[in-house]
Amino acid sequence: MSLGFRFFKDDLCDLCGLCFERCPVLELPAAEAKQDIKALIGGKTDASLAYQRCTTCYTCDLICPVQSNPYELVLERWNEEHQSRGMSAIAKLVFPNETANMWASVRTLMPEDELSLMRSWQKNVKHPRKVMLLTGFYTNLVPFIAITSLIEELKPAISGFEGFWGCAGDAYKLGIMSQAEMIGKMLHDKFAEMGVGKLYCLMGAEAMMLSDVLPNRFGVDFSFCDPEPLDYWILDRLKSDKIKIKRKLNKKVTVHDSCLSKYKGGKLQDVIRETMKYIGCEIVEMEHNRESALCCGWAATIPALHSDIAGNPLHTLLYLLHSLYLRLQEAEATGAEAMVVNCHACYLFLSLIKVLTNSKVDIYLSLELVQMAAGEVPVRRNEKRAWDMMAVVSNLLFRWLFFPKERRRFFPKPVKMEPIPPISSADARRLRFFGKIYHSVLVQNRPVRKLLGAIVKSLINWYQDILRRRQREILSVAARL
Ligand code: SF4
Ligand code: SF4
Repeated sequence: MSLGFRFFKDDLCDLCGLCFERCPVLELPAAEAKQDIKALIGGKTDASLAYQRCTTCYTCDLICPVQSNPYELVLERWNEEHQSRGMSAIAKLVFPNETANMWASVRTLMPEDELSLMRSWQKNVKHPRKVMLLTGFYTNLVPFIAITSLIEELKPAISGFEGFWGCAGDAYKLGIMSQAEMIGKMLHDKFAEMGVGKLYCLMGAEAMMLSDVLPNRFGVDFSFCDPEPLDYWILDRLKSDKIKIKRKLNKKVTVHDSCLSKYKGGKLQDVIRETMKYIGCEIVEMEHNRESALCCGWAATIPALHSDIAGNPLHTLLYLLHSLYLRLQEAEATGAEAMVVNCHACYLFLSLIKVLTNSKVDIYLSLELVQMAAGEVPVRRNEKRAWDMMAVVSNLLFRWLFFPKERRRFFPKPVKMEPIPPISSADARRLRFFGKIYHSVLVQNRPVRKLLGAIVKSLINWYQDILRRRQREILSVAARL
């Protein structure tokens, strides 16, 4: 049963199965891929591995030879589940209008310079802006990245807060279509009211939501403000010598292409690579790159809300760690010293798996590498923030274990352009406590980090066996249909 949004084109699909055969997560044999798409079209979600494991990477849409939009079929099935049963309680973490969401939680552990930056960005949305630099949803987890002279002339125009809902990126990926549409319309009216004529996005992914997904799927047209990733502006300024290179970096790097960088013909992926070459980096590609790039792993939390492993935060955490590690291992296999990312969610969560597995591969934003080439020292609090996120996850597990109401499914509240609700003093105390432990010498010493890395890797290996077993069971249900 479809509930209002229908982007998948049944009439075009000939059940060839190519989508799930070449899906970088599933990589199913041809016969099983055909079974899977058939089960998904028929609404037999228990028998569809795509429904249970899709990490929203968008590759299958690019692969489908007849543009049937198989990715949207997954989203539509998730949408049906939300509308009829609500969402798994742990998803509250990514809703900025819920208490103890991750933005409010991380803020408890942030230094004053970052808090004051975010206050100024929020204040700026009250003023008209011809040119605007939009901060991203996930920028507010790592606001230190904007401490750079490279964007000095855009600084008065930096605006945004969590009430902009990340340009509907999370709502769309979660499959909450009505919410995505509502956010699109709300932002359209807001940018028009502010008089924005040119919009740069600190998070390239959000530029793709505004210039592709929201207009093409929901008919919300942002052409009046011409949204573009900030990365285009940075490359232009490098080429026109307005950003002067003081030294070539001579670093061997690998580029992680975020899910939304695949939109608009992959121009953002080209721009990042050109920028890296411009500042003297050698690029080595991962096994899955560009059109077939794996999700960083963060979006793996989404199927964990719907599937056979739904509702249990330990399962969600393990599926997340497993998916993050898949990506990190591909980067390690290239021999690169750094993985370059553009999306701030990828930046934070890949930094998390880096610290947890004690990997040698450093995670850099492309902007940070340009800063270094221009002679600046980037602030680089990504690893510190990754440990802060561990405090947030620990608090989530605590709440789930000790408060039964924190385990109940919920229906998302209507979206509003409002500041995030304050965190309770009990949550703040717990977060500071966990934060102190993770940042203390108890954890931050070489033998403990090494031991922790070994434990996390064995946990992931053990969990992979469970996933493989479950995969066989799901496929055998599909075969019996
Ligand atoms: S959605 Fe496209 S690729 Fe997938 S089975 Fe249908 S036609 Fe083939
Ligand atoms: S969106 Fe990506 S992970 Fe999901 S089914 Fe399509 S190719 Fe696979």
